[in-house]
Amino acid sequence: MLEKIRVVLVNTSHPGNIGGAARAMKNMGLKSLVLVDPKKYPHQDASSRAAGADDILENAQVVATLEEALAGCSVVLGTSARDRRIPWPLLDPREAADRCLHTWQADHTAEIALVFGREYAGLTNAELQRCQYHIHIPADPEFSSLNLATAVQVLTYEARMAWLKYTEQPTHMPEIEATGMLGTAPATHESLELFYQHLQQTLIEIDFLDPAKPRHLMARLRRIFGRSQLKKSEVNILRGILTETQKAARGEIIQRRGEHV
Ligand code: SAH
Repeated sequence: MLEKIRVVLVNTSHPGNIGGAARAMKNMGLKSLVLVDPKKYPHQDASSRAAGADDILENAQVVATLEEALAGCSVVLGTSARDRRIPWPLLDPREAADRCLHTWQADHTAEIALVFGREYAGLTNAELQRCQYHIHIPADPEFSSLNLATAVQVLTYEARMAWLKYTEQPTHMPEIEATGMLGTAPATHESLELFYQHLQQTLIEIDFLDPAKPRHLMARLRRIFGRSQLKKSEVNILRGILTETQKAARGEIIQRRGEHV
């Protein structure tokens, strides 16, 4: 689906924004960039802002008119920073991403265009009227105009999220494999039992727990620790604390430091 979305930048003034848009696209897995009559391109600023997305720039198509940029597209979505002046089907970026997904679901070969306007003037009404849908990023109305490359980032991010969700791919970093070395392996039942015995023993030694009147203290503590799903390495820390607590209670630390009681 993502490869069917082309990003069309109309009449861009700052080549840095073209590079920024290319980078945003590559980050989100989009490849097809079309530049309609860019003011300065190719340009060093575009390459430096692309920072690794040079392939997107190299493969970018430069055309003279919006007409050419939209050739072969079944769905055209135009972005606008301003309030609508003409009544038109309006989408937010998330809805726009769903529209892209539905288009792709209905026809895997359908080409989709996301059209972005000039830094200073956006898209003209004539250009906006070429789009079936308008997309507005619901920014603060007092300051609603985003940087061009940032707007590309928002739209392409939503497209990626829609795609990841549809294909049931994770949106979180994969959890680090449970390895003892990284301390993420869960504690075993036996080591937890040893920990609870150690805890109980220590609490008795420091007079916090009276074996004659236990008041369900151990059950309560088990509930607390049970909630936190202790890792092996965490049980080791707690056992270490208990051992030192026992030593302190027995006056061993004081002796070790050579201090006088
Ligand atoms: N002064 C211009 C601002 C254009 S910002 C105007 O009033 O229209 C440059 C481009 O970034 C816009 O044409 C649009 O493609 C995109 N953009 C910026 N802010 C946006 C927003 N809030 N919603 C949708 N697109 C936005």
